[in-house]
Amino acid sequence: MAPEGTDNNSKPDEALKSAREDIDRIDREFVKLLAERMDVVRRVGSAKREDPEAPLRDLERERHIFEFWARQAEDQGISGYFAGRVLREILNYSRRHQERLLDTDVPANNEVRTVRVGYQGIEGAYSDLAISKLFSTRSCATLDRCGFRSFTDAVDALQSGEIEYALLPIENTVAGSINEVYKLLAEREILVVDEEVWAVEHCLVGLPGATADRIRVVRSHPVALQQCERFLDGLVGTKSESWFDTAAAARSVAEATDDTLAAICSEEAAENHGLVVLRRGIADQADNMTRFVLVGLESEPVDERIPGKTSLIFTVAHRRGALASCLQAFASQDVNLSKLESRPLPHAPWEYLFYVDIDGWITEERVVTALDEIRSHTNHLKVLGSYPRRIDVGEEAVPGTSSLDPAPMAAMPPASIPPPVENLKLSGLRESSERTVVRVGRIELGGDGFVLLAGPCAVENRSQIMDAAAMVKKHGASILRGGAFKPRSSPYSFQGLGFDGLDLLAEAGAAYEMPIVTEVLRAEDVDRVAMKADMLQVGARNMQNFELLKKLGTVNRPILLKRGMSATIDELLLAAEYIMAGGNRRVVLCERGIRTFETSTRNTLDVSAVPVLRSRTHLPVIVDPSHAAGRRDLVIPLSLAAVAAGAAGVIVEAHPRPEEALCDKEQALHLEDLEALHSGIRSILAAQGREMS
Ligand code: PEP
Ligand code: MN
Repeated sequence: MAPEGTDNNSKPDEALKSAREDIDRIDREFVKLLAERMDVVRRVGSAKREDPEAPLRDLERERHIFEFWARQAEDQGISGYFAGRVLREILNYSRRHQERLLDTDVPANNEVRTVRVGYQGIEGAYSDLAISKLFSTRSCATLDRCGFRSFTDAVDALQSGEIEYALLPIENTVAGSINEVYKLLAEREILVVDEEVWAVEHCLVGLPGATADRIRVVRSHPVALQQCERFLDGLVGTKSESWFDTAAAARSVAEATDDTLAAICSEEAAENHGLVVLRRGIADQADNMTRFVLVGLESEPVDERIPGKTSLIFTVAHRRGALASCLQAFASQDVNLSKLESRPLPHAPWEYLFYVDIDGWITEERVVTALDEIRSHTNHLKVLGSYPRRIDVGEEAVPGTSSLDPAPMAAMPPASIPPPVENLKLSGLRESSERTVVRVGRIELGGDGFVLLAGPCAVENRSQIMDAAAMVKKHGASILRGGAFKPRSSPYSFQGLGFDGLDLLAEAGAAYEMPIVTEVLRAEDVDRVAMKADMLQVGARNMQNFELLKKLGTVNRPILLKRGMSATIDELLLAAEYIMAGGNRRVVLCERGIRTFETSTRNTLDVSAVPVLRSRTHLPVIVDPSHAAGRRDLVIPLSLAAVAAGAAGVIVEAHPRPEEALCDKEQALHLEDLEALHSGIRSILAAQGREMS
């Protein structure tokens, strides 16, 4: 008779075995279905290739797919969020496949050729892994990879024709820019033709049988050692040794017989050398990403439907404002900067070289215009390359997958809304229905998070604005408001402290780490106010002050444009158009109540303006319930209505001692009101799948 334990153990063993067999069977089906789906994706790609007018992405369609997945997942009892994450990966891969099909150099007959790609390091190095990732969708070619000892060796091989491309790491989220690579790009006749990102997961690896507590020597590339400093400090009695590459360090461990040796490298490099992972994810910082550039000798044909990116380096003329003029040139052409970094220029003390990445192809008119303008402010400018943008920066997120468009908004029938007025060339909704995210300091309006802007009507004195900043910060505000110049109906009312008030507001913003917004009344004050304020407000009484609007079109600051109390929605949009036509595209619209026959409230909040505006413009829309209501007790319910209607934020007036307020005391919230407002907003946001910024 078998010992008792055997029988008992064999049951769970069998159950586990059979469950695992089921999982393997399902996974086989899964992968088969994925391959089948990719076949169809290729058919879609070919159709787009035949029709140059077809957009690469159809955000509406993507939104439906996401909704479909989420519904199906939830019907099956699994999380819609989880299904959405899986789908996002599938769609990213599909999109890159389609982009490849649009590359005009793909041979129609899919004939396979060999491409030689160089990198620094040996097999299994992070660069080598990134090559596999990039070429999995980039071309139909088979790969021949060659590892080189240094970046310079790889570039020499490229220039001598030994290899066709080199993949070089250019920046890391922890270690910053890799200057040696920038130097090569600056000095050699080579061009960036593509990019790739690799999420680095450093592992401690050793020989089979090794254990982390017995390791005495850890080998790796110096950057990897530095990125795992805290972990290494915890391995008492070990010493670190620098190797030229993480995978080479792994190879050296594999070649030794000493199991007190370990390396830090990728899991793939460990596998390549028969090593085992002793610890995973040992970097001090969790998000460790490296961006690589693929360099070649010639630029490659592109399809402008694929989002592009252009990298530049330049040095500016030695005069005040030269760099600001360059940046303004990008801003006025609506060219987004995704990177700006400066480095000292060797042999020229106190002169700087700027590394800049912009969104857009070098052939796009707005990019050409911006670069023409920039040339007059720079001593030296070199375009390092224009290539497909592979990094999703979030602004392009599919509506509906983030909270960019609260779910209830999707259900609104757009057909019932009258068509927009003409002339909204810049503020009108784009075909792609992409929405603009306006950054105020580090806060994003119109992005994923809902923004609470709060503060007193007017800045009255230091202690008042400091106390106000503290109270609004405590209850969820991320932008501080406060009037320094007050447009009062009566000439005898308090008119604001002017620039002194602005200084106090800036001090409070800095103390509580909140960007500040304040109203500017006159065109001639704009530049000076823009020096201190993070966002400039146009008040309701000034919405059609066209000279002011034109001036605001020239500053590099976001604008909060309030709806005039007798203005139609079309007039509000045309006012925004004035600012945008001047070159400033960072406009946030604010519904603040309009004049009606109703006298119970100071104005009548036009809640419908929120969805109507969202159906006509890509600009963020916020609501000011304080000036709409003029009564403290209505501010919370109106704020909640604004959230429900899909506003990107609300701006409310709050005062540490409302009874003493010099301006608009009846509508100023107390500390407790702010608390209730904050919690009310959060509950509506939760229902919409949104969060506070
Ligand atoms: C304000 O926000 O301080 C203000 C004066 O508002 P409005 O221009 O909307 O009246
Ligand atoms: Mn006010």
